[in-house]
Amino acid sequence: MTAPETPAPGSPEDLENAAGAEQEHLQERARKAQKILEHPENYKVCEGCDSIVTARVATCPNCHGYRFESAPQAVIAQAKLLAARAQTTLRAEDLF
Ligand SMILES: [Zn+2]
Repeated sequence: MTAPETPAPGSPEDLENAAGAEQEHLQERARKAQKILEHPENYKVCEGCDSIVTARVATCPNCHGYRFESAPQAVIAQAKLLAARAQTTLRAEDLF
């Protein structure tokens, strides 16, 4: 009879669980950024406040601006910026 393989204590999974709700929040934001990166054509960047909004809206829900940059490259660049910021700060008022 061979001994079953036992998982090492203190595996990366345990550490992730210990990080708590704040970590989850950041992961949620990272997921949204990922979604934008996968379908940049569904989004555009507000020229007034740099938020990413869905391509459907006529005016920015954040600053009520009506000028948008809808080039996919611009959306991708902004999404990456926001994702990077999400990992370094805990501020919740960003624009997703
Ligand atoms: Zn705006």
